[in-house]
Parts: sequence; structure tokens; C-alpha cells
Amino acid sequence: MRINQILPMGRFDATDWQDLLSAAIADPDRLAAILPVARNEIHSVTRQYPMRINPYYLDLIQKTNDPCWRQAVPNIQELDHIDSLEDPLSEEKQTCAPGIIQRYPDRVLFLVSNSCALYCRHCMRKRKLGMNIPVEPAAIQKGLAYIAANDSIKEVVLSGGDPLMMSDQALDDLLKRLFDIAHIELVRIHTRMPCVLPQRITTSLVEVLGQYHPLFMNTQFNHPVEITEASARACRLLVEAGIPLGCQTVLLKGVNDQAAVMGELMRGLVKIRVKPYYLHHPDPVRGTMHFRVPLATGMEIMRAMRGHISGLCIPQYMLDLPGGGGKIPILPEYLEQKKNGIWRICNFEGRFFEFTE
Ligand code: SF4
Repeated sequence: MRINQILPMGRFDATDWQDLLSAAIADPDRLAAILPVARNEIHSVTRQYPMRINPYYLDLIQKTNDPCWRQAVPNIQELDHIDSLEDPLSEEKQTCAPGIIQRYPDRVLFLVSNSCALYCRHCMRKRKLGMNIPVEPAAIQKGLAYIAANDSIKEVVLSGGDPLMMSDQALDDLLKRLFDIAHIELVRIHTRMPCVLPQRITTSLVEVLGQYHPLFMNTQFNHPVEITEASARACRLLVEAGIPLGCQTVLLKGVNDQAAVMGELMRGLVKIRVKPYYLHHPDPVRGTMHFRVPLATGMEIMRAMRGHISGLCIPQYMLDLPGGGGKIPILPEYLEQKKNGIWRICNFEGRFFEFTE
């Protein structure tokens, strides 16, 4: 319905991702003409953190402050900066070449884009996004040179921004260069496109990506409402091209911080052949503090899911340690040592069993 309002007449069934992107809302006055928002507040927030809501994602919003609204519409609480850092994971300190973040010896993050089809209000790289500073080809060359010169690097994770904002041709060139490096065994793409603008997953894109293996893709769905016919089709095209799909959901207050919602999301993902991979505990990133939830909430959600839904649907609950300490899995307390060789073990119903080694 709203797509009709913001695309030119006759284009409401547009599936061309670039048309949908050009029709995205970045201007607070345009947003105020469509949604019941406080125009002044949106102006204040977007001066610091830009907005981009494409028509596809806008159409997923059903009412004020619902899960898609919270992820897409600027909130005045983004300007509340107490107890937060722009870069709590110290990514800038771990940057060793343009766009290259190396936290582990065998893999690097390669930031190849500064823009996205939706500027998610909870983005952990909010400090970088939407500033209209494209990643220069020269920077990509330098990143590639760093990877080629370090043979301990076996895996490259393309991230950004969203790497699928690049043209098919640019992605083809980049993947070819990466797979030509003898020590690179695996490339992974981190993208929200299957969720926030599934029209980007075109047959021509899939033809390009399908030439390279092993190529994995991790996406980010945060609420069952985001699983639509269009997103299911996008995932099907990718899987049929031989690209395994995983999901890195972010635990977000007011979006998915209830076990029933999370369980429905995880089951829905498996149905569209996306393996729930991580459930990220939100990082204390400046501008996103209104999405924070206690660790206990995440552990309770994990406990509620385990044993009640298929193991295939269960992601690992991960905490990214501050200061660049890396990710650790958070596991509900199942094990307790009674004495040497005897363990007290809690099952998914909260009942205790003794296990002797
Ligand atoms: S698509 Fe990813 S990188 Fe872009 S704003 Fe959303 S979470 Fe951040």
C-alpha cells in the first residue's frame, strides 16, 4: 500500500532493486508525510545518524513502534549516549589495512561498502554508515594486497555496510581476485539484503555468486514478519546456486526479546533453508542503547528454545567481548561438578540428572 504512495504511478509492483533503492526515504519530511512521526525528532536524529527506508521494508511496518518500525524509523533515544561507545569492539584499533579488521589469525573482515538498503537503527557499525563516503577502488586494492601478503588468512568475511550494494560486476571482480589468492579457502558474505531488500537477489546476481565456491552467506532476520514470499524466493535462489545460508539474528528489545517470537523466527528461517547461526547479544554501541536487554533475558530465551524446538533451529547465543576480546558463546548453566567424575546436569525442563564419567 505504502509502496504506491512513494513510487511513481504504475511502479507499485516494481521488483527492480535499484528503483526500490532510489525511492527509499531519507528525508524526514517525506517520512512525516507517510508515518505518524515527530518530524523535529526525526530531523534531530538524522543529522547524526542517517535514515534510509526502502519501500519494500516500509511496507513491512504495520503500526507505530512495531518490530519493523523499531528497526527502521529513527528514535530520539538514539541521541542518548550514556554508557556507550562508538566502537566498543575496538574495530578501529584492529584495522590493519584499509577496510581490513583482523581479530583472529586465520580470518579477516573486509569492509567493502559503506551503504545499505536499510539503515538499521540498531547497527553495530553505526559510526560508519550512510556518510556518503564510498569505499574507493584504491582502498579495495590495498585490502586485497594485505590479504594476498598474509598466508595465515584462510577466510575472508565481506561486510560493510552491505557488500551486495556493490554492482554485480564489481562483486564478480572482487570474488575472482579473492579466490585467485592461493591461501584463501573460504569467502563469506554478510548481507541483510535477503531480509531488507530481497529484490536485490536477482538471477544475474545469483549467476555471478554461483561461480565461486565455497561461498557462504550470512544474513540477518530479526523478526518472523520479515519472512515473506519475497525473502523466501531470494533465499531459494541462493541455496539453489549452492550458497549455504546462515542467519545472525541480533537480540533487540521490543523486537524479538520474547521466547515465543524468537522460536517462531528460528523455525521460520529453517523453513526457508536458512540455518540460525548466531543470536548476538547487542553491543553497547552509541545510538543503539534503547535496544539493550539483560544477558539473563537472552539466556532465558535460549533455555526456552532448547529441547522445545529442533536443534537445527537453535543458534549459538554470542557475546562480543568489549575491547576487541572476540566472541564467546553464552550457554545456559547445564553442568555443575559435584565431585570428581560426577556431574549434576540440568535438562531443558530444568530437571537435574547425575552423570558419572
Ligand atoms: S544492513 Fe547491516 S551494516 Fe547495514 S545498517 Fe543494517 S545492520 Fe548495519
